[in-house]
Amino acid sequence: MPVQLDVLIIGGGAQGLWLLRHLNAKKFKTLLLEKGELGGGQTCHSHGLIHRGHYYRDVDMLVDLNAAASFWESLLGTTGLRKLNNRPAIAGFGQVGRAVVSHHMNLWEQAGLIFEEKDEDEFPGVLAGGRVKTIFATREFSLNTKDVVEKLSGDLRHLIYRLDQRQRNPRIHVNDGAVTRVDAVIGRRRVELDPQVVVMCAGAGNKDLLDELDLGMQLGEPVQVRRKNHMLLVKGQLPELTAVFPEPGMLLGLFICTRSTANEKVWLVSDHRGSGDIDFEEDPDPDPSGEWIQVIVDSLHDLAPGLSRLRLQWSVYTGLTSERNFGGRKHQDDYFIESFGLRNALVIWPTKLTLTPLASQVAVRIVRTLIDTPAGRNLSGYRGIVRQQPAVAKETWEMRPFRNATAVKTKWMSGPEFQKTYGKFDIMLK
Ligand SMILES: Cc1cc2nc3c(=O)[nH]c(=O)nc-3n(C[C@H](O)[C@H](O)[C@H](O)COP(=O)(O)OP(=O)(O)OC[C@H]3O[C@@H](n4cnc5c(N)ncnc54)[C@H](O)[C@@H]3O)c2cc1C
Repeated sequence: MPVQLDVLIIGGGAQGLWLLRHLNAKKFKTLLLEKGELGGGQTCHSHGLIHRGHYYRDVDMLVDLNAAASFWESLLGTTGLRKLNNRPAIAGFGQVGRAVVSHHMNLWEQAGLIFEEKDEDEFPGVLAGGRVKTIFATREFSLNTKDVVEKLSGDLRHLIYRLDQRQRNPRIHVNDGAVTRVDAVIGRRRVELDPQVVVMCAGAGNKDLLDELDLGMQLGEPVQVRRKNHMLLVKGQLPELTAVFPEPGMLLGLFICTRSTANEKVWLVSDHRGSGDIDFEEDPDPDPSGEWIQVIVDSLHDLAPGLSRLRLQWSVYTGLTSERNFGGRKHQDDYFIESFGLRNALVIWPTKLTLTPLASQVAVRIVRTLIDTPAGRNLSGYRGIVRQQPAVAKETWEMRPFRNATAVKTKWMSGPEFQKTYGKFDIMLK
């Protein structure tokens, strides 16, 4: 007997989990399938920075980010999830003219953001003598993404199932412009699912799911762009810092969020430079380029010259991001929800963790137009399906070194070892 569902969600990153939460609250009978670890895609690669938009220049996007941040605030309130930054986050500017800073302040005001200009002597010590000349305290905050995944999924584990590792699992059947059935292999048993609506939240895996549906003629051009995004990790006696530097001209658009170990702090540092679209057959190296590392290390030292006095450990990792491909056309939004001509399926690509609850709300509204009466919450799981619980991924910086076709994390290295491995920096690392 097929399992009757209101909604089947494919993919258990932040997007799929927020949607599961929202649909369950609205009494839709829902099941989520995950092929690996919950959060193991982009979600746990991320800084976990919940943006309010101080980094960006598009007011509509700032409004969306600020609204999305309020969903995250409410998750904190209801689950006990804690912000990682105890100090206010900062948005900082290098030696750009006051007109550039005023332009940003103007955008922030239009979008309703709350910010306060600070004196230079309120900077953390390692920034002294660096390029930051103007700073604002903001209400951006960061979260531990493993905790996020645990809190989002905690009371809904009975609705989450892990797929067996095999090709074309799940298999989505389409007929006459609609999904008619989904076959999944769970616990070595084939399960037939009969959902009214399917929502694909598989991150970079959305492309493979769509390719298998063979909708080629509707897509017309590559449907998804996959990019490599890198993170520089620095560990030692560092101060806590949550910061964005919006002007690429001076500080290369750095983002910094802090994590704590028993004795030390870790800075997760990235900048605005991702790769172009990657064809992994042509470009199989998941490692960041030496050039990327040199620029970000130099940029970090321009920002915080005090780092050169510290003995630090260094590492890097790469995560694969996915976005809807617009070819030459203008990129319009920062999350995309599309049906590709199917009457009962949606695909969601959020380009930011921050936006996932907002995209989920929009998807729920679409589901409500497709299903008149929800079948009711399922409180105990699905009979006839062997419960295979996916594990929750660790944050990537905490993982042991690994290397695969699309991602790499190096071991921690001393400054000289890191320098020897990755090239010549203007500064010498201790
Ligand atoms: C290095 C880096 C830093 C970032 N920093 C930030 C930040 O600070 N703030 C921010 O707002 N955003 C950030 N982002 C972006 C953010 O991480 C993503 O936009 C967000 O996590 C996407 O969530 P998702 O659930 O759509 O995708 P994912 O987290 O990738 O989840 C997709 C899930 O689907 C599963 N899956 C894939 N294929 C299948 C299949 N066939 N069947 C079943 N399951 C499948 C995967 O295993 C995975 O668990 C960052 C991204 C990267 C790479």
